[in-house]
Amino acid sequence: MLYQEQVMSIIVVTPDTSTADLWLPDLHSTAVNCPLTQLQEQLDQHAPDVIVATGCDQTHIDLFASLHNRFSIEERPAIVLFSDDIPNEYCLALVDAVLPRTNHPMVPYQIQQAVERKSQMAVMQMRIAALEEANRELQRKQTARQRTADEIETLKYSIVRNVTHELNTPLLQVKSAVALIAEEIDHNSLVEYALRATTRLEAVVKNITQLAASLNDMSNSPLIVRECIDSALRDLRRTWEYKDHIARIQVDIEPNLPLAHGDRQGISAVIQQLIDNALKFSKKDVHVRAQRQDDHIKISVQDYGIGIPKDQIEHIFESFYQVDSSSRRRYSGTGVGLANVRLILDRHGIDIVVESEQGKGSIFYFLLPTVNSTRVSI
Ligand code: ADP
Repeated sequence: MLYQEQVMSIIVVTPDTSTADLWLPDLHSTAVNCPLTQLQEQLDQHAPDVIVATGCDQTHIDLFASLHNRFSIEERPAIVLFSDDIPNEYCLALVDAVLPRTNHPMVPYQIQQAVERKSQMAVMQMRIAALEEANRELQRKQTARQRTADEIETLKYSIVRNVTHELNTPLLQVKSAVALIAEEIDHNSLVEYALRATTRLEAVVKNITQLAASLNDMSNSPLIVRECIDSALRDLRRTWEYKDHIARIQVDIEPNLPLAHGDRQGISAVIQQLIDNALKFSKKDVHVRAQRQDDHIKISVQDYGIGIPKDQIEHIFESFYQVDSSSRRRYSGTGVGLANVRLILDRHGIDIVVESEQGKGSIFYFLLPTVNSTRVSI
């Protein structure tokens, strides 16, 4: 701050005279604003007590240095420099060379301010550098964390895949052995118990297998809907539990459907799961339909079974959710089937719709996009 009572006259030198207005109120009315080009002229007429120079560059420095020879120590104006471009040492050197030796009242204060500002900027720059380094460190940690997450994900995939493989083979062996025993020993409660337990185990392994399949990378390619439905039915036929119920499935596929777009294995798994549930939760026929709807193929699975209460519909896609967990005994299951369905369809960017009425049955459907203008007879 300049103290007016201590100042006789001031010249403010700015690269652009309009910015001097920012200084003038502080410097008060004694300050004269002038561009560098006119400074020489001003000095010829009158030597001020103080020259305040903002936005200094080499031209300023040269000119101020020349004042050293031109004015005697007593007459020489105090020069206060403000610049972001001139290094601190340079300012101080210039101060030594140009400033009057006399103890001008404002000089120490203004110089101190200019130097302080410089050192504050240096501190700020150090802080910015420290912050930038901390930020880089954070990014390094985040990358490392992401790498760990990727590794865990890979590990999860391989565990699920290996476990599935290791479970399926012995299960098949146990299943065949129990089936043979059951054929030989009729109505033996222990054998029936073994049969039921194997059936439950088979359902669990099937769920894990489907989960493993849906964790696989999906290949989004053209597919024939009929093939997906056939593949789902083939897998269901292999499931012991529904062997006697396959006849209840009615398939209705519109002729000449175009190719659809999606992951064949994933879509088959979805259809299989929906039919599986429909068979489980109903005793009547189950309808599987595929029909064209604009640029999509609507695939639906309808049953006329127990239905789902309205307030439960939004929950049935959650992992391990069962509308009536006590029904677990009546209807075997793990509660991951529909979570799997949603996971697969989510990865396709497709929604699944459920319409259901308690005691009357349910319909689950989704729309698979068609491969535009490709028509095949299926
Ligand atoms: P679960 O292995 O128990 O069948 P899901 O995830 O396939 O697991 O289904 C979750 C729950 O949603 C089931 O336990 C059942 O209560 C309900 N549900 C699913 N499909 C049907 C259906 N077609 N009819 C009635 N309830 C159903």
